[in-house]
Amino acid sequence: MPVMNEEVPAIVASSPAATTMKAVAVIPGKADSVHLTQLPRPRIGDVPRGRGVLVKVLRVGVDGTDREINAAEYGAAPDGYGFLVIGHEGFGQVIEVGPEVTELAAGDYVVATVRRPGSTLYDAIGTSDMTTDDTYYERGINLRHGYLTEYYVDDAEFVVKVAPGLKEVAVLLEPLTVVEKGIAQAYEIQRRLRVWKPRRAAVVGAGTIGLLAALALRLRGLDVTVFALTRKPYLNADLIEAIGARYLSTLDVPLEQAAPEYGPFDIIFEATGFAPIVFEAMQALGKNGVLVLSSVTGADHRIEVPADRINLGFVLGNKVMVGTVNANREYFEIGVTDMAHAEAQFPGWLSRLLTHPVNGLDSYRELMETLTTARTAIKVFCEVAPF
Ligand code: BGC
Ligand code: ZN
Repeated sequence: MPVMNEEVPAIVASSPAATTMKAVAVIPGKADSVHLTQLPRPRIGDVPRGRGVLVKVLRVGVDGTDREINAAEYGAAPDGYGFLVIGHEGFGQVIEVGPEVTELAAGDYVVATVRRPGSTLYDAIGTSDMTTDDTYYERGINLRHGYLTEYYVDDAEFVVKVAPGLKEVAVLLEPLTVVEKGIAQAYEIQRRLRVWKPRRAAVVGAGTIGLLAALALRLRGLDVTVFALTRKPYLNADLIEAIGARYLSTLDVPLEQAAPEYGPFDIIFEATGFAPIVFEAMQALGKNGVLVLSSVTGADHRIEVPADRINLGFVLGNKVMVGTVNANREYFEIGVTDMAHAEAQFPGWLSRLLTHPVNGLDSYRELMETLTTARTAIKVFCEVAPF
């Protein structure tokens, strides 16, 4: 078994003869335990029924979930392992496919979904993002190893092809799918209205998800106002304006106050990570509107709210609020289409989100440090292999 250390060139680990590979892992429950480990190189035969797809990892994005996992606030190791390989925002290239895979071939660029099926009916029909199981399986997050490694293998069912023309920005696909699911669910819910022609949208939060939500809503022709919770230069105002959206700070204009001028908001997409703002969004939402909540909030904020007023507004205004997490294959496919539209309509915009590349798996410390400290970062990602 080759030993991976400073003296051994990286090429050894990547050569076809190598039997092991590097992986970046944490010890769940132990804070700041991120480290480099080794795993056997996976093979297409690891997946049953000839449906295996072997993927060489090219880039992996990191986000707040990875930060929480390394802070031991989240995440669990797969059965039989004392560690969890992190990274759920993977982008790679197919090396080899099993005999029963017809939809993918060696050389294809791909992104794999994150969640794997549990035991419910939703899982059985390809919508594990809607599972009602308490235990869920997510690659790089919970009970399944992730993509911050050299190779992975998975069932073709979970591997989504990305057009080669999108390869420079494809590492953004997984975060985009979270947005796509939220918006698709909103449109689905609004079929209750028989006719729904949303005109004005508010996005609350100007981080990666907020920016991608603004993009997706602009691509659907909506007038978009992005509300940031801060007023600092890292608000990404220029990016927001580059897609024809406007931005405001809630410090200057509270949501409800902005609604008469920039609303009524037919859809509000919340992505701040700060739950108290949700109750303001409920009040700013227009009649018949839909509020999409996407923040995974692990804190324990308590606030006082005008309960009757909010309730009354919802009842008299026929409003809806929906929570959304994770995304299944369908939303990855919508995401690919939207990325292509984005490149056509706002050329170069997506690549401006790729602010903080970190070179190589060996730089895992720098990767996590950049993730926790870079105030101006939009997307921090690891360049695992050149392409
Ligand atoms: C991921 C989702 C996942 C969620 C909760 C997010 O960072 O993008 O795929 O479902 O965390 O684990
Ligand atoms: Zn993510």
